Amino acid sequence: MTDPLKAETMAAAYGVASDTQFGAVSPPLHLSTTYAFEGFERPRRYDYGRAGNPNRDMLGEALAALEGGAGAVVTSSGMAAIDLVLGQLGPADRVVAPHDCYGGTLRLLKARADKGQFRLAIVDLADAAALDAALVDSPALVMIETPSNPLMRVTDIADVARRARAAGAATMVDNTFLSPALQRPISLGADYVIHSTTKFLNGHSDVIGGAVVAARADDADALRAWANVTGVTGSPFDAWLTLRGLRTLFVRIERQQKTAGTIAAFLKRQPQVVAVHYPGLEDHPGHALAGRQQRGFGAMLSFELAGDINAIRRFCEGVRVFTLAESLGGVESLVAHPATMTHAEMGAEGRRVAGISDQVLRLSIGLEHEDDLLADIAHALLLAQD
Ligand SMILES: *Cc1c(COP(=O)(O)O)cnc(C)c1O
Repeated sequence: MTDPLKAETMAAAYGVASDTQFGAVSPPLHLSTTYAFEGFERPRRYDYGRAGNPNRDMLGEALAALEGGAGAVVTSSGMAAIDLVLGQLGPADRVVAPHDCYGGTLRLLKARADKGQFRLAIVDLADAAALDAALVDSPALVMIETPSNPLMRVTDIADVARRARAAGAATMVDNTFLSPALQRPISLGADYVIHSTTKFLNGHSDVIGGAVVAARADDADALRAWANVTGVTGSPFDAWLTLRGLRTLFVRIERQQKTAGTIAAFLKRQPQVVAVHYPGLEDHPGHALAGRQQRGFGAMLSFELAGDINAIRRFCEGVRVFTLAESLGGVESLVAHPATMTHAEMGAEGRRVAGISDQVLRLSIGLEHEDDLLADIAHALLLAQD
């Protein structure tokens, strides 16, 4: 029992058969908002559901273990998780964020900065000179999101974290696209990992949720206290469902990324496809780095389809196995058109700067048989050509 359990075991078994009352194998759901004191001035472990809940704690402990952190806070959404970290900053603090981070993150950062809650520098993290220039101002926090959405650009977490630390900044990595099954940013020097658990961690497209994992216990305590102050903690049922989803994370993502690799290679051979963005492809600019810092290339990819908006429309309306929808990381495969969907709010100029053309389509690969997905894409590509 001296060896720590493997991550797969932790995901499958964390909290299993821990119920002391009935020996329930699947952890019971605790919906109660309040807890009886054992006696006057004698609270139990839990007193009030906003501050703490057994299901939320069990999920947070499992996530902290998987990410190699000291503790975690489970929030009501991915945005709430990011905002929880931002809530630690003051008006004199600076935040450095990547120019191609998740649209909702950019919107939150800009809105908070506009209210004077911190100062914001948006940079291309792949541009070493731009990052160095931003680090001269001694930022409090540097944010990383890798691979990026939707172009799958890969950022060197260890390098950015090292340079941020030398400048006195903490590093926060949004690990939503890969999950701890494929990337563990804390082991690469990150101070915080955030997740939209809505995506791969829950994996079934039926919970909106988030989490922050902190590398150090004092940071985890501070976040837990602040989450109670602001009330961004997630619901017990959501935590229960997300832990159930987490049980199968490793097998899901293993199959999903295998299929993603097959689909990326297939798309690459199609004459109507101008570019394929998948770190698993040898000619992807982040291929070597992803090979070093990730345990796999993931189940997200994007490609650029030749033709105008009508070709895009015919493709999106031509798929039958894929569903045209936002979000990602579920058991069902999705296609999204960033320019009119996930990245519409960025505006044409913002997308141009980030290199996201109107021809980009993003795929989240699910658990369907790869033959059906390939046939679906082939059929939609034919329709797109007309
Ligand atoms: C979805 C997403 C978020 C936001 O999470 P919500 O759960 O929708 O609030 C943040 N970052 C990334 C990379 C995401 O994909």
